[in-house]
Amino acid sequence: MADKKLVEAITSMDEDFAQWYTDVVKKAELIDYSNVKGCMVIKPAGYAIWELIQRQLDDMFKAAGVENVYMPMFIPEGLLQKEKDHVEGFAPEVAWVTHGGLNPLQERMCVRPTSETLFCDFYKGDIQSYRDLPRVYNQWCSVVRWEKETRPFLRSREFLWQEGHTAHATAEEAQERTEQMLDIYAEFCEKVLAIPVVKGRKTEKEKFAGAEATYTIEALMHDGKALQSGTSHNFGDGFAKAFDIQFTDKDNKLKYVHQTSWGMSTRIIGAIIMVHGDNSGLVLPPKVAPTQVMIIPIQQKKEGVLEKAYELKDRLSNFRVKVDDSDKSPGWKFSEQEMRGIPIRVEIGPKDIEAGKCVICRRDNGEKVEAALDELEHAVAEILEDIQSNLFRKAKTHLESHIYVAKAKDEFVKLFAEKSGFVKAMWCGEQECEEKIKEDMSVTSRCMPYEQECLSDTCVYCGKPAKKMVYWGKAY
Ligand SMILES: [Zn+2]
Repeated sequence: MADKKLVEAITSMDEDFAQWYTDVVKKAELIDYSNVKGCMVIKPAGYAIWELIQRQLDDMFKAAGVENVYMPMFIPEGLLQKEKDHVEGFAPEVAWVTHGGLNPLQERMCVRPTSETLFCDFYKGDIQSYRDLPRVYNQWCSVVRWEKETRPFLRSREFLWQEGHTAHATAEEAQERTEQMLDIYAEFCEKVLAIPVVKGRKTEKEKFAGAEATYTIEALMHDGKALQSGTSHNFGDGFAKAFDIQFTDKDNKLKYVHQTSWGMSTRIIGAIIMVHGDNSGLVLPPKVAPTQVMIIPIQQKKEGVLEKAYELKDRLSNFRVKVDDSDKSPGWKFSEQEMRGIPIRVEIGPKDIEAGKCVICRRDNGEKVEAALDELEHAVAEILEDIQSNLFRKAKTHLESHIYVAKAKDEFVKLFAEKSGFVKAMWCGEQECEEKIKEDMSVTSRCMPYEQECLSDTCVYCGKPAKKMVYWGKAY
């Protein structure tokens, strides 16, 4: 009985997906709640996932010519207000600093909700000539947005992220960079996180405050809801004009720079949980699993068992591997390994040692195989790779089987009433119509995908001539 307790304590995902999610983040020890309202404590098991995300994404950035910097965390009010759309977009959710020690500040400052204004202020002085371009900077930091409702990883008042901010000599170069960074996010999600995504452009209504165009990658969670997983914005020269960022070009003329920004946050950990998790808990893709292999000794008090377990650990030093030598029962240890999403567990007991083998159990599908101890390194490497690709395949099948097509309004309404997932449908391009859809059905446009199709000639909701095919969905 005791062995099952850990697992029994989580709600089934089909019964109550939201509760299942909360149970998993707590039981897998990813986060804890804090006395700081709306903020979370990221525990070692959660933070280690973030570190693996950070390391691998940062490597991809560096390969694309990105340099890391660090900006102040405060933004004076006057600076925030320089770009009109931007301040309007963020004003409702910024936190203000009004005092320095005991003295009221002459000008209040907000805690950065995002750093466009700081980068612009910096670039204004830093960029003089075409020789100073491009600037391709990124910072890893936390930002603050005063959310009313919060959920671990998905929405919290302070969260960790990276924000890239670039400045270019031409509009073409800025557009190229915007798309390049979106491609990097998509590749990162698919190759590292095993999460398939839909790439596209946001509508005017859903684009970033102050941007000319916003591009997004959208992932589909197990419950059929969408999660915006990374965005890349082309600012054109709008911010440059508001902040007066000009450079002398080769032709000796003074010109405004063209800018981009792009970000991915700890929200993506929520996506990993909701795409791959199951009723036994977390399922981590090997590339972001802080522990990839857990060795669990069976009858560990018997002579030679623990020694053998440590010996195997040493042999597997190319992987992130641990031995669970605690005094808990093997059954309890199995449940814990499953709850924490550790991709592989290796069971080793006296009989196995005698026979020169061990049992390898996969977290993704529960399959157990025997492996000769001599071949363990090879077997583990192969299985980890297979888990990584199997998780992607599974998620891709789930995504593809939850994309529906609606050609008429009744079909559209019926699909969202009965199914969960993305619905592809034609749209007139008018914001009013989009707002009506949101109001009536709590459905938002997720993106206008790169790969456009013509499903019908008229807008699915209002019947006016169709302009774009849109992925619609309910979203986190
Ligand atoms: Zn319409």
